[in-house]
Amino acid sequence: MSSISYNLQAVRDRIMAEARAMSRDPHDIHLLAVSKTFGPDAVIEAAQSGQMAFGENYLQEALDKMEAVRALHPDLQLEWHFIGPIQSNKTRPIAEHFDWVHSVDREKIALRLSEQRPPHLPPLNVCLQVNISGEASKSGASAEEAENLARRIADMPRLNLRGLMAIPEPVADPEKQRAPFRELRMLAERLRASGLKLDTLSMGMSADLAAAIAEGATIVRIGTAIFGKRDYAK
Ligand SMILES: *Cc1c(COP(=O)(O)O)cnc(C)c1O
Repeated sequence: MSSISYNLQAVRDRIMAEARAMSRDPHDIHLLAVSKTFGPDAVIEAAQSGQMAFGENYLQEALDKMEAVRALHPDLQLEWHFIGPIQSNKTRPIAEHFDWVHSVDREKIALRLSEQRPPHLPPLNVCLQVNISGEASKSGASAEEAENLARRIADMPRLNLRGLMAIPEPVADPEKQRAPFRELRMLAERLRASGLKLDTLSMGMSADLAAAIAEGATIVRIGTAIFGKRDYAK
């Protein structure tokens, strides 16, 4: 067994075990394989082990990879999720080539994605990225602006607002890891109580997977634990 398929199985087993430990249905937790910096071969290998959803941060790298995968395996039906920061002049290829965008954090970006989503494709699934306490990146709407923004995105015709996403600051203590995930879950619950239909909490990476599942993650975004350490120098 290759290391990618071995790692994938180990991550699936962990998701299963953490879900059971929290009395959650493991089928409610979807694994997004974050393939940034890894080539088309790694994606194909993961796909041949049954992993069909991939997350990418860098637009040009992602587009090149999609094309390379398609050239090698035209029949592979993969689902592509954009999870990186979005520049407003790069929204069109995102709207054209991805199935999901997790990193929508301002109205201008959402409007452009909705306008630019090609009519022959289903509405683009999006998550609103929220900058909860101690966020690692500067991206993300504040919790205060999230409700208004979520409501406006939910009204955009070519977007399907699915939920919230966050990238908390890395901390080692599993108990401390749970606090920001809990905040995101509670924010989603408030938005649901106010009438928005949200079914997704995109949270949890290789180092805080268990904490995210304990707080209700429905998509975990896992790179290192599947593909190994990233080499940004390449
Ligand atoms: C890189 C990245 C991940 C994956 O992180 P790992 O620690 O390698 O699992 C998840 N989410 C986002 C937004 C990322 O940029």
